[in-house]
Amino acid sequence: MNAPFSLSGIAVSQGIAIGRAYVITNTAMETLHYLVPEEGIESEVKRLQTALTVVREELVSLRAALPEDAPAELGALIEVHAMILADEMFSKELFNIIRTRRYNAEWALMTQIEELSAKFDNITDPYLRERKTDLEQVAERIIKALTGEQEEKPVSTENSEQVDLVVVAYNVSPADMLQFRESFFKGFVSGTGGQNSHAAIIARGTDIPAVFGLSDALPLIRQNDWLIVDADAGVVLVNPTPLILAQYRAKQSVQHKAKRRLSRLKKMAAKTLDGTAIELLANIEFPEDCRMVVNNNADGVGLFRSEFLFIGRGGGISRFPDEEEQFEAYRQAVVLLKGRPATIRTLDIGADKVLPSSEKVKVLNPALGRRAIRYCLAEPEVFLTQLRAILRASAFGPVKLLLPMVTHGSEIDQALGFLEEAKNQLRSRGDRFDDAIQVGAMIEVPAAVLALPMFTSRLDFLSIGTNDLIQYALAIDRVDPDVAHLYNPLHPAVLAMLKMTVDYAVEAGIPVSICGEMASDHQLTRLLLGLGIRQFSMHPGQLLKVKQEVLLSDLNILTPKVARILTLCEEQEIAVAVQDLHQEEMSI
Ligand code: PEP
Ligand code: MG
Repeated sequence: MNAPFSLSGIAVSQGIAIGRAYVITNTAMETLHYLVPEEGIESEVKRLQTALTVVREELVSLRAALPEDAPAELGALIEVHAMILADEMFSKELFNIIRTRRYNAEWALMTQIEELSAKFDNITDPYLRERKTDLEQVAERIIKALTGEQEEKPVSTENSEQVDLVVVAYNVSPADMLQFRESFFKGFVSGTGGQNSHAAIIARGTDIPAVFGLSDALPLIRQNDWLIVDADAGVVLVNPTPLILAQYRAKQSVQHKAKRRLSRLKKMAAKTLDGTAIELLANIEFPEDCRMVVNNNADGVGLFRSEFLFIGRGGGISRFPDEEEQFEAYRQAVVLLKGRPATIRTLDIGADKVLPSSEKVKVLNPALGRRAIRYCLAEPEVFLTQLRAILRASAFGPVKLLLPMVTHGSEIDQALGFLEEAKNQLRSRGDRFDDAIQVGAMIEVPAAVLALPMFTSRLDFLSIGTNDLIQYALAIDRVDPDVAHLYNPLHPAVLAMLKMTVDYAVEAGIPVSICGEMASDHQLTRLLLGLGIRQFSMHPGQLLKVKQEVLLSDLNILTPKVARILTLCEEQEIAVAVQDLHQEEMSI
């Protein structure tokens, strides 16, 4: 085992995870990971055996089909692949992994390939070292054979060896993160990703401790190393001493107890000490998340990131969910919310939320490119299909429509034009919908803040997306760990923009909420309350912590203090003042 050491990264969620490292390569990331139930082990072994036979036969026919004048290397290559497959040790070890660790066949395969690859890396002979590529190619063939015949994936949440695992990945895209939402992994460590990358947002949504941005230090972690992921501090401790391990286990148990205590707040109304009612809404990615929304007694959904229904399925536009599939998803959300409002944001595709196969051309600045509303207006069929699906869902309960990344009045006008067209299409089909559906826009581009009348004159509500607002205002890529230290929600320019937006919306009599990650940070709740925010939308897992802050806050005390904070010009000074505000004792 390695000697103990620690690595610093970016804290993207909270809590402590302890477990063994499961180092996962990019190829492995794309394969499925689940534990096979005890009774399914032998059929999983059989599934792998069948796939191995398919690949063997494939290689035989490939060899036979080679033209006489084919280069000799080609035949030799196929033979090397066939030899790898014929190696009994290779298949025996694979079956062994399935039987002892209960990994599904794909996962077992990738585990073994990674172990073998590591051995190849240590070979000095360059020819032999190159054979690692053959191994990977064979693995690819087997994976293809497996997925070709794959049916239902049994999912189990128990780990056969009762050893908790922490995923260590070089690069986690939002689509990759989706597969871990329901996973049994206890923590995440990633080489890339900033605090507000979408992968980080999903990590927070899973409520699993995660540290991102370890970049060059990541290779220091080896398969099976013991890890402590301290997501509060953004630190990963590798192979800790027994004493440190014991200290962290104690800390972990204190955190679990505090979480249980918080759940007592579920039933309480979110009111400040002076009696002001605060609306606490939830951000969701999938309709099923509405169960958590109801479970935490949120007031509704303030942001349904609909793009997650589109990404992660590969194949680009041709694989987009059709109207029926989208309608079912939105309707499911509306029904699960039992009368609470669902604010559905139209497709916010682009930047780090890419559709892998649709990105034919590499765009230099994707966050400034054809993203969100720009994409939808350029793809009317995609937009109209989604609008019809959302409208149809509005017949089953309260739905609001939210437009992302709007910068120009003309974009709102065009979007509203498409909405009318979608309504007409439904009318001619005789489909029901809420004709008075409310339409709002995200305020997430600085130009929108400086041109608010353009929005308030055309829309029913506003929702501030601080994640992008900060990115675009401070010119910091929210995904880039190299500039993550400059991504500061407490920059005076950011606070000034929040204040401007809230004041203007209040004056115009238009509701305004905040749905960026600032809303989830309970250490900022009082600041936001003092700025005049009365509607917060966040991941449901953060809701009770924010509610606790609301219950302990008095607007009469907060408001003048926040007004003073707004006069400060130094980031450090603001940070101290906000921290003091957060810690101040307030009681009736
Ligand atoms: C935001 O930008 O703050 C926001 C809520 O949208 P997203 O994080 O999905 O870009
Ligand atoms: Mg955004």
